[in-house]
Order: sequence, then C-alpha cells, then structure tokens
Amino acid sequence: MRIAINGAGIAGPTLAFWLQKSGHEVLLIEKSPQLRSGGYVIDFWGIGYDIAERMGLIPQLRELGYQVKEVRFVDSHGRKNGGFSVDVFHRLTNDRFTSLRRSDIAATIYNILDGKVETLFNDSIAEIEDRGNCVHISFDHAAPRDVDLVIGADGLHSRVRRLAFGPEKEFEVPLGYHVAAFEIEGYQPRDDLVYITHGLPGRQVSRFSMRDDYTLFLFVFRDEYLPDDYPTSDQQRKSALNRIFADVGWECSRILKGMENASDIYFDSVSQIHMISWTKGRIALIGDAAACVSLMAGEGTGLGMAEAYVLAGELHDSGGDYSLAFAKYQELMMPFLKRKQESAAKFASSFTPGSARGITIRNFVTRLFSIPYLADFFVGRDLRDEIILPNYEV
Ligand SMILES: Cc1cc2nc3c(=O)[nH]c(=O)nc-3n(C[C@H](O)[C@H](O)[C@H](O)COP(=O)(O)OP(=O)(O)OC[C@H]3O[C@@H](n4cnc5c(N)ncnc54)[C@H](O)[C@@H]3O)c2cc1C
Repeated sequence: MRIAINGAGIAGPTLAFWLQKSGHEVLLIEKSPQLRSGGYVIDFWGIGYDIAERMGLIPQLRELGYQVKEVRFVDSHGRKNGGFSVDVFHRLTNDRFTSLRRSDIAATIYNILDGKVETLFNDSIAEIEDRGNCVHISFDHAAPRDVDLVIGADGLHSRVRRLAFGPEKEFEVPLGYHVAAFEIEGYQPRDDLVYITHGLPGRQVSRFSMRDDYTLFLFVFRDEYLPDDYPTSDQQRKSALNRIFADVGWECSRILKGMENASDIYFDSVSQIHMISWTKGRIALIGDAAACVSLMAGEGTGLGMAEAYVLAGELHDSGGDYSLAFAKYQELMMPFLKRKQESAAKFASSFTPGSARGITIRNFVTRLFSIPYLADFFVGRDLRDEIILPNYEV
C-alpha cells in the first residue's frame, strides 16, 4: 500500500520503519525544515524499550543516554530535602532504563530508515479527502497525491486529527499545568547524573547537566500563573517565565538570567488526548496525536513506538484488509493507553504539588524509596506495562 504519515517525531518514523519492512511504500511528511533538535530529556523504558530492541537501536540509545543516579529535591538554599536513588527504576526494569534527549531518540529512529523512506520536510498534509477507494491528500507545498492510507503521527496538536476527526478542544484534556524547557551552555553549578528539582506550591524548576557543558532546565507550573496573553514567541515565553519564577528562590535568578541566551524555548500545555476512536475510514492516528498521556506518564515515547509497531504488524497480518487491522490495533492498544492516562493524571499533583503540605508529603514519600519494598509499592505498578505485544512475522 501507499501510506502517508504526517509527522516525523517518534511514532511516525517508527511506523515507517515497520511498514517499509513489510514492503509498503511510505511517505513521511514533517513540518519542520529538518528533524527537531533540543527540546527536553525523556526517560525511556518499558514496552518502548522492547520495541527499540527489536529495531536494533539499544546500543545507540544507551550510548546517547544518561544513566541518572539520583533524583534530588532541594529547598530554597539548595539543601536536600527529599528524593531517591534511581537504582529503584533500574532494579524494577532489570536495568532496561535510560534517559536521553527526545531529539536524540527521534534522530536515531529516523536514521535507521537509511534513506529508504521518502520524506517531505518543511511541509504538511493540508487537506484530506477520503474517496473510499483511496485518499486524496494535498499539502502546504508539494503537489497533491493519492494514497491508500493516511496516518496522523503529528503530536499533541495533530493537524490530521483536526482535519479528519474534529477540533482539538473536543479531545484535549488539560491537566492544569504548563511546561517549558530549554538548554543553555556553560551553566554552573553542575551535578552530573543528578536530576535536581526545587519548587514552591504550583511552580517547580529542575535542572540536569548534559554532556558538552550543556544544562537542561524544565519548568512546570499551574495554569493559573499563565499571563492573560498566551506567550507564543521565545521572547514572550521568556517574559512569562521571568514573571512566574522571579520569587521562587534557589538558583532561579541565575537560571532566568541564563535563559536570556536560550533559543527555541519549548512551551506547551500539559494535556492528554482522549478519543473514542483513533481511526476513521482510511485514516488512523498514533502516538500523542491519538492518545497523548502527557509528560506525567514518563513513557509517551515508548507508548507511541508500541502503537506504531502494533499498527504496522496488524496491517501486515491482515494482508491488505486495513479495516480489520485498524480495528485490531485499537482493540489491543486503547484500553492499555486509557489505563496509562488515568495513572498519569493521578500522578500530576505529586509531580508538582499545589500546596506546601503536598511538597512535604512528596519529599517524605520519596525518602522512603530507600526501603526496597516501599519503593516497589509506590512505583512498581506504574513501571510495569501490563500488555503482551504480539510477535508479528514482519
Ligand atoms: C516536557 C516533556 C517531558 C516528557 N518526558 C517524557 C519521558 O520522560 N518519557 C517519555 O517516554 N515521554 C516523555 N514525554 C512525552 C513524549 O515526548 C511524547 O509522548 C512523544 O514525543 C510522542 O511522540 P509522537 O511522535 O507522537 O509526537 P512528537 O514527538 O510530538 O512528534 C510529532 C512530529 O510531528 C511534527 N508535526 C507537528 N505538526 C505537524 C504538521 N501539521 N505537519 C507535519 N508534521 C507535523 C512535529 O514537528 C514532530 O516532529 C515528555 C513530553 C514532554 C513535553
């Protein structure tokens, strides 16, 4: 089949990899002029790790990754007041856990396509007309084409979803927070392999020292701190973060000063996507476009890769019956994704507590992680992926 995939992030190129292995003719479309760089750091484990292993990617991912040792919460003077050793994650996942830039994993997946998949950069599917026997798609720039299937892998704010299923507000469930991230070079101090977080109720900033003297900063804050005019440019985002974090203490004034040299500030709502159906006619959604779990799950990347693997596998097994494949893909993955979304939504208030009491409780609980059976009790369930992925003969 001729299959067009809108979005070359994580899920799109993973799907392209498995589809081209089955002999399909794949077209990837990416709105950025090249693969997106920078961004933020993700934890990578679970079923996504298993899929990456089946794709032969683990050696590269581990080389690019960071084996984080400690998550540390600090007070406004930088004194440790909570946190835990990341050993618990390594133990519970049999050391199948690493942390790396989202852009590094995206590039690693894209690179194994090895030029075998046609990619249109700086373009996007602009119109979709399902004609029954094919789908007629037009683009922002390229000439229109007819394809057999269209897949939306274009993230939380998916255009394919909007074009084929309806406006974003029908599916977006904001969790009440916003997130911002950027990297700067030469920031001091550095604490290698330690993820350090300081917060006041409803506002929290973290830093993580990266290779080549870069430091990643992640800000999470409750939506009530957003300015009336939603910030869209880097300059507006910097002004908003300056206002929101000016009085948060710890290293905030130094971080905000360093931010002046940062470009490409990631800034978005912490939201989930809830849908009743991920498919319609010859069109299907995967990854964040279909079922964004939000950063609170710490697993969206791997889940997107698993959805891609299953969709490609079902298309392979169905021998061209895409309706059957779409139905089986959804039947297998949707209940699992719903459970992941529920536990991520519950975790949001522990990730960034809204009260001083909430911060104290979170810090206390994380100190208990040094006792193995308590650590297993608190994080074990969320670290287990209760699903068995089929072995497709691709
Ligand atoms: C701050 C933060 C921290 C996170 N931490 C983790 C973590 O620890 N672990 C984890 O596993 N996940 C984490 N996630 C989630 C993870 O990043 C996503 O779930 C994952 O990237 C989803 O992959 P995707 O391919 O569906 O979408 P994306 O990675 O968003 O890729 C979508 C692609 O589509 C492109 N695109 C968008 N619109 C169009 C268009 N109109 N036309 C063409 N192309 C388009 C984009 O440029 C992009 O390349 C985190 C997310 C955030 C925001």
